[in-house]
Amino acid sequence: MSYPDNILHQVTKPARYTGGEWNSAVKDWDKTDIKIALSYPDLYEVGMSNLALPILYDLLNSQPDVLAERVFALWPDMAAIMRARGIPLFSLESKHPLADFDIIGFSLGYELTYTNVLEMLDLARIPALTSERNASHPIVIAGGSCAVNPEPMADFIDFFVIGEGEEVLLELVNSFRGWKRQGKGAPREQLFRQVATIPGIYVPSLYRVEYQADGLFKSITPTVAETRPTIQRRIVTKLPPPVTKPVVPYIEVIHDRGAIEIQRGCSRGCRFCQAGNIYRPVRERPQEEVLQAVGELIANCGYNEVSLLSLSTSDYPNIDELVASLYHRYDSHNLSLSLPSLAIDSFSVRLMDSLVAHKKPGLTFAPEAGSERLRRTINKNIPEDEILKTAAVVFDRGWTSLKLYFMLGLPTETSDDIEGIIQLVDKVSSLSRKARGQRAQVRISLATFVPKAHTPFQWVAQENEPQLDYKHGLLKAGLRRRGVKLSWQDPKVSLLEAVLSRGDRRLGKAIYRAWQLGSIFDGWGEHLNYQNWLSAFEEAGLEPGFYAQRERPLDEPLPWAHIDVGVTLAFLKHEYQLAMKGKATPDCRYKACNACGLQGWQPTCQQKYQQLSQG
Ligand code: SF4
Repeated sequence: MSYPDNILHQVTKPARYTGGEWNSAVKDWDKTDIKIALSYPDLYEVGMSNLALPILYDLLNSQPDVLAERVFALWPDMAAIMRARGIPLFSLESKHPLADFDIIGFSLGYELTYTNVLEMLDLARIPALTSERNASHPIVIAGGSCAVNPEPMADFIDFFVIGEGEEVLLELVNSFRGWKRQGKGAPREQLFRQVATIPGIYVPSLYRVEYQADGLFKSITPTVAETRPTIQRRIVTKLPPPVTKPVVPYIEVIHDRGAIEIQRGCSRGCRFCQAGNIYRPVRERPQEEVLQAVGELIANCGYNEVSLLSLSTSDYPNIDELVASLYHRYDSHNLSLSLPSLAIDSFSVRLMDSLVAHKKPGLTFAPEAGSERLRRTINKNIPEDEILKTAAVVFDRGWTSLKLYFMLGLPTETSDDIEGIIQLVDKVSSLSRKARGQRAQVRISLATFVPKAHTPFQWVAQENEPQLDYKHGLLKAGLRRRGVKLSWQDPKVSLLEAVLSRGDRRLGKAIYRAWQLGSIFDGWGEHLNYQNWLSAFEEAGLEPGFYAQRERPLDEPLPWAHIDVGVTLAFLKHEYQLAMKGKATPDCRYKACNACGLQGWQPTCQQKYQQLSQG
């Protein structure tokens, strides 16, 4: 399959669709037994910046009888032409239609890409609903952070991979291999029952969902012997080797550089953060492995800019030493490093300053809340003094702009906390004038709090649009001054995210209807058609506020409770109660174990937990 000549020049960025990039793997289609399409339900530029995709691509292609190829969502101009010409969606590597693959694996990292999954299946001429697929269709699977609440997408996905895919994917392929060898006649249900026995695999069609008479969710129970009542998240005890030969895009992508994951998991315990809860425990990559990996990345890809990735980079042990060693070893390559997700402290600023000789990076910190009380509540327990001290070091060292992230609508937030943001920004801005004689630019980015499954705030109501608009208004008025620039996210996007992230299986109808009404690329501000979604909820007989803006009692059954991410319900409840009392929980990396539930997983956790139980 290929594009007819007169298609690509009619669309924006044709290189999104051509494939053939450096390091892409094109295996012999006819001689390879198992064909997997790794599908990312967003644009090429976004998907090619994802960390998991190259890991899975590498892992699957390393199996002699497996080929893995990539496919991304088509931008509407391309989708319209493909439909008009009757061309089905096909992969970037061998250009085979998706329908010819054995397995289509979607990566679900953001709820607002759900309609894109349906759009991609439709463009591939594969029924979106699992109930309408048969033996002639590929198996459709999904993983990623959104899979920790799989229910809203349960109508469309044959099975979900819960947690880290590095080990479980190979077990899945093994099962599939055996099932495929039986020939075309082998029933799909047989495969479903077989994979349901693999820890970390959830087959929604093998579970029954019940609701209470008043519409509340009641339970999800297995319907066949092979399934278990709870599905445990897969966790790899040791980080697998880093990918050092990733596909190198021809066009600029969101993160246009090499990337090495230096650490997985975060122990800080921010109560709003899903990643901090669902990627525990912390696992570090040894320094020497990082040093070698960066060298291989340079040699294999030609990159001279590399990101050292982690949820909290400054917590990596001896990160300053690692940075110095990398510069020293790769001095002749003019290496430039970027360090995302830094803690707010002067150590982080000095660390960033050590990169300056090479290339001055932008500086971003996330206090999240404007008052110490609210920062304690969300467990981002940074004293105001520390924030101001850090800002002073930033301006002393010559930075001319600083970006600060805040979240609006956090649990227990009042107008005083909003006033706290205004005052804090004011103090930061004044510090810049003191240090530089003129004000630096302080950019404020406002997000809306979205309560997420498997966090201590999973029971909390999201604020409604008028409440958020009022707070935005206060901030706009209070921050109208020279040198301060304010940007914020549309609350409608966050509302939809809250509905989908804490939803149940009934939401499948609304997702399907919204897509039928034309909703795709919902996460792309200009593409969100909120009215479509409101109509879709209404037609499905659902009320978005029921999911997003309702405080849930701590004993209410939760539609995602059958997914066991490792962090226990008891820990989350305790954290919620501490939050309501305004009490912080110390970071277990530096203080005692908090018995979050992962104490059996890692030697450090085991030791810390033992100390806790003995002490
Ligand atoms: S088990 Fe203890 S040490 Fe390990 S992540 Fe949880 S709280 Fe931290």
